[in-house]
Amino acid sequence: MTVPVNPIAVHAFNPGPMTGPGNTTWLIPGRVPTLIDAGTGEPQHLDALEAALAGSRLAQVLVTHSHADHASGAEAIAQRMPHVRFLKMPWPEHDAAWHVRWEPLTDGDVVPAGDGVLSAVYTPGHSPDHLCFWSEEGRLLFCGDLASKGSTVVIPPSHGGDVSAYLASLDRILVLAPAKMLPAHGPVIDHPVELLREYIAHRALREQQVLAALRIGITDPTQMVARIYPTLIAPLVPVARESVLAHLLKLEKEGRATRNGDQWRLAGE
Ligand SMILES: [Zn+2]
Repeated sequence: MTVPVNPIAVHAFNPGPMTGPGNTTWLIPGRVPTLIDAGTGEPQHLDALEAALAGSRLAQVLVTHSHADHASGAEAIAQRMPHVRFLKMPWPEHDAAWHVRWEPLTDGDVVPAGDGVLSAVYTPGHSPDHLCFWSEEGRLLFCGDLASKGSTVVIPPSHGGDVSAYLASLDRILVLAPAKMLPAHGPVIDHPVELLREYIAHRALREQQVLAALRIGITDPTQMVARIYPTLIAPLVPVARESVLAHLLKLEKEGRATRNGDQWRLAGE
C-alpha cells in the first residue's frame, strides 16, 4: 500500500524584492525525510528545518530549479547536515554556482520521499531545469515556480525562460489535475485547475496585445511595454520588457514575427 505524503511548510526567511515575504520550502517527514527546495541558507531557515525534523535526520533535498532562492541554500544545509543528498535536473552552468554534489533527476524519475514516493515532472518555461514533484496518492503537486496564487510567473528569456515551453508545462499539469499545488511562493493553491486555466488565458491575452502592437507598427519591445502596461512603475519596466520579449520569441518560433536586431515586425510585412 502506498501512503500519501504529509508536507510541513518551512519558511526560508529570505524576504526581498523578488521573493516577497520569502520562499516556502516543504518538509516531508517519514522514513525518508525529504525537503523540497533549499532556500538561501538563512540560519533561521536551518533552525526551523531542524525544529520541523524533530530529531530525525534529513535524507535529501529535491530542488525544483537552480534559481538562487531555491538552490543557493544547499551549501549551508550541507555544512550543517553533511550526510544530506541533493537532487535536481541538471542545468550545469547554473548549478556550478552552488557548491554541493548534485545528483541528476530527469522527467519521470520516482524518488522515495517521506513514507511515500514522488515523481519528477519536467516543467520548463520559467527556467530550463524546472521540475515539479508529484504525489499521486494525495494528488499533490510541489510546483516550485510554475504557479503562485495572486500573481503570474516571470518568464525571463534572457535567463533561459521560454513561453512556449511554459504553456506546454501548464497544459501538462492541467492533465494531471492536481487536487492541491504547494508553491515556493505564496499560499497553498487549493483550486489548481482554475488557476492554470487563468494563466493560460492570461498568456493568450498578452500574445494578442503583442500582436496588436506589431499590427499598428510598434517595433520596439520597450514601446510595447508602454502600451501594454500603461501604469507600470519604472522599476518594473525591465521585468515587463522580458515578458513582452518572451512572447515575441514565441511568435518568432512559430513563424509569426521576425526581427532585425531589436526591432520586431509581423512575419510577411
Ligand atoms: Zn525561479
